[in-house]
Amino acid sequence: MKGRQLLIAGNWKMNLTPKESAELAGAVLSGLPEKSEDADVVLAPTSLALCDVVETVGDAAVGVAGQDMNAEPSGAFTGDIAAPMLRAAGAGWVILGHSERRQYNGETDAGVAVKARAALRAGLLPILCVGETLEEREAGRALEVVLGQVDGVLASLGEEDLELITLAYEPVWAIGTGKVASVEQAQEVHGAIREHLTKRHGQAVADVIRILYGGSVKPDNVVGLMGQPDIDGALVGGASLKADSFLALIPPFPAS
Ligand code: PEP
Repeated sequence: MKGRQLLIAGNWKMNLTPKESAELAGAVLSGLPEKSEDADVVLAPTSLALCDVVETVGDAAVGVAGQDMNAEPSGAFTGDIAAPMLRAAGAGWVILGHSERRQYNGETDAGVAVKARAALRAGLLPILCVGETLEEREAGRALEVVLGQVDGVLASLGEEDLELITLAYEPVWAIGTGKVASVEQAQEVHGAIREHLTKRHGQAVADVIRILYGGSVKPDNVVGLMGQPDIDGALVGGASLKADSFLALIPPFPAS
């Protein structure tokens, strides 16, 4: 028993209209009574669909997340959304530093760190993403890269903030590619992150921070991954876009 509640988060990326998002949220909610209350569920629609999803969720125990935010609370940042706006729209969470944002929008660890602090100030719980590229893994640098990113994204947080964050280890080569990390590869990195957190921030903090795995999580590989001692949930792209496949990632899992 890990003592950390599993968190299953669906990242809908740039998919679904507000109406389709509300429908998917509704379908997920309909299936949740069959599911364990020992797992937290978070849905991350596009910003445009956030209010519709929040309304559909109502007072059900399902979190809603933004997929990114600007670190400033307001101002001349055309096209951006601020943390207080996400909060006011009803989001309780925000994904920060996703590899797609690092790749296409030039996000850096330092920028993610500043956003993480702004998110917490606004009352949002950040899910901070880290992960190595295939090139970095093949060069034997996966752990060095990931632990460096962990230090980078946590850099501007006070010790009291650390217990409020969630990390997501998402090997870039496994996102949206159908190539999932083996349970051994994933656990090796999760275990190394936990050990690193223990050294840097102490056992108590390392014991409560949830570390999600992300990268082609599907109903046929979720059980093995979630059974690992340092994997505390999943950040899911593709399989979160259909209610059936997303619900299949939430325990209890069918007996094999
Ligand atoms: C993600 O977007 O965070 C992700 C892990 O995507 P997928 O599950 O499609 O690989």
